Amino acid sequence: MSDFTGLRALVTGGASGIGWATAGLLAERGARVAVLDLDPARVDEPLLKLRADVTDDASVRAAVTEAAGALGGLDILVNNAGIGAQGTVEDNDDTEWRHVFDVNVLGMVRTARACLPHLRRAATARPGTAAIVNTCSIAATAGLPQRALYSATKGAVYSLTLAMAADHVREGIRVNCVNPGTADTPWIGRLLDAAEDPAAERAALEARQPTGRLVSAAEVAGAIAYLASPLSGATTGTALAVDGGMQGL
Ligand code: NAD
Repeated sequence: MSDFTGLRALVTGGASGIGWATAGLLAERGARVAVLDLDPARVDEPLLKLRADVTDDASVRAAVTEAAGALGGLDILVNNAGIGAQGTVEDNDDTEWRHVFDVNVLGMVRTARACLPHLRRAATARPGTAAIVNTCSIAATAGLPQRALYSATKGAVYSLTLAMAADHVREGIRVNCVNPGTADTPWIGRLLDAAEDPAAERAALEARQPTGRLVSAAEVAGAIAYLASPLSGATTGTALAVDGGMQGL
């Protein structure tokens, strides 16, 4: 695993699940890390906690400015904040469609827009360090039932990743995404808790995984760290599946 000593990273949605595991891993490997989240209270020191809402451009800009000021710049953006939605196209109304797109897609666009000037400076000062990793999902391409809205947002994140990779490769900024399968995070915990029999629901979910278990947040964090590190220096515009073989089914 790569050494992140001297690198500066911003992780959105870093107070829980995949973002929390990623922020911790990057910090453990030497990065200075800022966490942007709606509720960053439970993030441990010495990570910088930034309260912001990715649907609010002003709050994103203020948080990114604070992160870059406190860390002395930014080399890495992990664009991870996201929310779920269940149902077919008949189950979610326009307000829900707009909101989930606002968080999952525009949230990443706003954060990238605010971070790019800093990443550009990092790429010039230290070629090979600047990277963006977007948390996408196998839902982007898998055609999952009961996930029309969520899948559409992740399809957009996938296309955005490819387009941004093309736009920024000559500036020395790499852009990739990870496609987790069902990852064992508080989000999935909330979904299971809402079921009639959470234990039976968990067992059914695990049985659907080729590996017989859910993906761990740490395993997704490992893939994000790889794509954020110079170890993947020749890789841009790719999606790395972390799905326990789900896509191979
Ligand atoms: P989680 O709910 O555990 O964590 C998400 C974090 O994002 C929370 O801390 C939350 O406060 C933050 N957040 C939500 N809306 C925000 C907003 N408007 N502004 C700022 N922060 C906000 O979820 P997770 O499972 O860790 O998911 C993280 C990412 O991984 C999401 O993009 C999700 O789509 C993706 N993903 C998750 C799974 C899974 O099975 N858990 C699978 C594929 C992709």
